[in-house]
Amino acid sequence: MGNNQFGMQNPLHQYPQPEFPQQPQPVPGLASKVQPVPDHGETSYKGSGRLAGRKALVTGGDSGIGRAAAIAFAREGADVVINYLPQEQSDADEVISLIEAEGRRAIGMSGDLKSEAFCQELVKQASTELACLDLLANVAGRQKAIADISELTTEQFDETFKTNVYALFWLCKAAIPFMPEGSSIINTASIQAYQPSPTLLDYAPTKSAIVAFSKALSKQVLPKGIRVNIVAPGPFWTPLQTSGGQTQDVIEDFGSEVPMKRPGQPAECAPIYVFLASQESSYITGESFGVTGGNTLP
Ligand code: NAD
Ligand code: MG
Repeated sequence: MGNNQFGMQNPLHQYPQPEFPQQPQPVPGLASKVQPVPDHGETSYKGSGRLAGRKALVTGGDSGIGRAAAIAFAREGADVVINYLPQEQSDADEVISLIEAEGRRAIGMSGDLKSEAFCQELVKQASTELACLDLLANVAGRQKAIADISELTTEQFDETFKTNVYALFWLCKAAIPFMPEGSSIINTASIQAYQPSPTLLDYAPTKSAIVAFSKALSKQVLPKGIRVNIVAPGPFWTPLQTSGGQTQDVIEDFGSEVPMKRPGQPAECAPIYVFLASQESSYITGESFGVTGGNTLP
């Protein structure tokens, strides 16, 4: 799918609308198996040097919103390390090729962020390989819809908090000592932090935690010259959703509930990550930015 990032058009009709086919796949889902194929900006995102020379670590950089951010960062001039799970190597390889095609460095480092030791090692290796680390985009996340609290296990509750909240804490903690003045941290929350769905009893509060954590951290690290901001997406067309983030009947109508009447495509989220990463947003920290298809945040 191609789309001119700057071409004026009606956003309602810019991308596919429901209905979508049911398409179950195991967790973690692969972007290569999502139908219709998501747009991560592969053919459309055009950079203009906004992140020249920057050194970025993007978790969840293999697919979805993280892939779109990683591609955009590279097209804006950054070298990028992406993290993902070993089962996602084929998606990651596509991203690495796209970044290398820009003449930027791309390094894939797979591993499970539920381990604090791995988070520490990832940050250390990323800053060694890139010779610096001045941009951390925490995009990795886990979401599994469960209809009733009686079926929500402690194991799932734990795993969702470990992936979405603890890993983000461990990565920020490990990265900050490496980060020079002017660095930027971007954490990925969700509209679920503000308007929680009944089926996301574990996931929604992880996203509220990310908002509060990021706001507190922004005040703590500003004296070091580091900014921390939050992106809160609405429904985006990614493997997270199609591989169990929603039930398959919700996938058929995915995005119909927002005023835009369609899901966002990952490419539509990338510009806000670029803006928050770059020095253009120098006076902005501790803020949450909705990319919600019109379901406005409070
Ligand atoms: P995605 O499946 O493409 O990306 C999520 C990524 O998280 C995976 O690619 C995987 O690499 C990574 N991940 C999951 N568990 C991991 C683990 N234990 N260790 C290492 N990596 C792990 O889906 P996406 O929708 O692009 O998700 C990206 C972020 O956006 C997530 O934080 C998600 O909560 C958030 N978000 C998504 C939507 C949406 O509708 N798609 C809406 C709001 C927020
Ligand atoms: Mg993935």
